[in-house]
Amino acid sequence: MNFNFNYFMPTRILFGHGKLNELETTEYIPGKKALIVIGATGAMRKHGYLERVTRILDRREIKYVIYDKIMPNPLSEHVDEGAEIAKSENCDFVIGLGGGSTIDSSKSIAVMAKNPGKYWDYIIGGSGGGKPVINGALPILAITTTAGTGTEADPWTVITKSGSREKIGWGNDDTFPKLSIVDPELMISVPPKTTAFTGMDAFFHSVESYLAIVNQPTSDLLSLQAINLISHNLSIAVKDGNNLDARTKLAWANTAAGICESLSSCISHHSLEHAISAFYPNVPHGAGLTMLSVAYFSFIAERHPERFSDLAKAMGEDVDHLPDKEKAFAFINALKKLIKEIGLEDEKLSDYGVKEADIPEMAKNAFDTMGGLFDVTPIKMTVEDVIEIYKKAYR
Ligand SMILES: [Zn+2]
Repeated sequence: MNFNFNYFMPTRILFGHGKLNELETTEYIPGKKALIVIGATGAMRKHGYLERVTRILDRREIKYVIYDKIMPNPLSEHVDEGAEIAKSENCDFVIGLGGGSTIDSSKSIAVMAKNPGKYWDYIIGGSGGGKPVINGALPILAITTTAGTGTEADPWTVITKSGSREKIGWGNDDTFPKLSIVDPELMISVPPKTTAFTGMDAFFHSVESYLAIVNQPTSDLLSLQAINLISHNLSIAVKDGNNLDARTKLAWANTAAGICESLSSCISHHSLEHAISAFYPNVPHGAGLTMLSVAYFSFIAERHPERFSDLAKAMGEDVDHLPDKEKAFAFINALKKLIKEIGLEDEKLSDYGVKEADIPEMAKNAFDTMGGLFDVTPIKMTVEDVIEIYKKAYR
């Protein structure tokens, strides 16, 4: 275990059934006029979640403006546009209502509402300008309606530069939400396939945080708990979306995985996936991760089997009687089993239009845009290694 670490987790989290109702009374709403950021799909209006929030804000005499253009793979042009509206309307906080793409965008908008220039001027990696953020960010209130990215409990925001193939994660102490509301009742409406994809995203955040060389005692505990909860509840929620018990356990697993991303880190599995969904924005992030996962984690386990047996145990595997080399692969087998249980075993990169000929360029992109995650991966990896993993994963 790594006993040399920094601990910082500043987000207040209201977690549990019906917690959205506490928006009515909580003293922690961080402002008087909100920019409410929602997705372009219309789901927040369709399910009545937007109306529930705006009614409460009306009763509390908190003003708001709605920005509703966020794409499932969110774009920098919408960050810049949303920030312009927040500035011109004098909003003093931002509400992200929805899934990861929306809440991530709300974080980026919160930064740009207080800082000059364009969003990409501040991004570190790729063609980002790497400028320091001088003015902080507007306070962020996150209301999550999926159990996927963990963004309600971490500072990270993942945005694609409009018109480019750069999908880059970024964040700082100001992009932790001030307040996050995690109400599993809002997740009942998530369709089965999205439940599977988002659940696997949370699963990999936990697995990667456990393997990352910057792991720490709290992230270790939460990683293993989240892996256990997802392994035992994801297929239940995929089959029966109304199962509130499974939804609640997955919601916590996801928030716990977000805390893990704050205290530890994802590893290069995420760099490889960002390159795929930057080239092919129709690939859902959780799908991309899942399609890469067996090839990626087999590559790591062969070269650095440490810690994999803990992951297998957390998934309910009995590994104690196995020889050491097989212990690591007990995790790979359990992973394959989980992917099958949730109905994703037939997902293929080629079905999303991904071309094998793009692999060398995607491998280069993974290093250029998300190179930082290779530094916390437990083995050194080269572009050739990444090409090999992509090729193994490609079907
Ligand atoms: Zn992710």
